[in-house]
Amino acid sequence: MTLTIRQGIPPRSSLGTVIPPRAQATIPIQTIEPIMAKCDQGYLCESCGLEVTSIVDSDLYLRFVIGQLDAERLHLSPERHLRCNPSLSQYIADARFDPVVVEGDFDHRQLDPEFVARQFDRITRGYQRLWTINESPEPISLLDYPIPDDDNDTAPTAPQAR
Ligand SMILES: [Zn+2]
Repeated sequence: MTLTIRQGIPPRSSLGTVIPPRAQATIPIQTIEPIMAKCDQGYLCESCGLEVTSIVDSDLYLRFVIGQLDAERLHLSPERHLRCNPSLSQYIADARFDPVVVEGDFDHRQLDPEFVARQFDRITRGYQRLWTINESPEPISLLDYPIPDDDNDTAPTAPQAR
């Protein structure tokens, strides 16, 4: 009996392109929304859950411009506000950024001064690069975002023994 009924119904595939209006309305919105959120609103901070609204507030892009993150990994890595990654953003010395203080092991006041000086130099330049990118009247290619690699000329002068 079931067999007879099935034979009487046209194969499902022949209806494939016709979606009744009710079925269209029930396409689960939840499955679409996370993707749209990433495109339309920018990324949410992994640490505080709020949206990262600007590139000059983005830990991800700062790490990209200073060469800590490959372009391929840029959109796969979690986003954070700069303030929400204080062990990095404590090295930003710029009037546009409120200084961040880290307590504990990553407090730069506890670290090797030479390392700290290099961090300040590179991360501050990276931060300023974000502003340049943000304020550029012409779009800058993503591949041109990163600042040049450190060379010995720009590094703080190390003691030249010998
Ligand atoms: Zn945050």
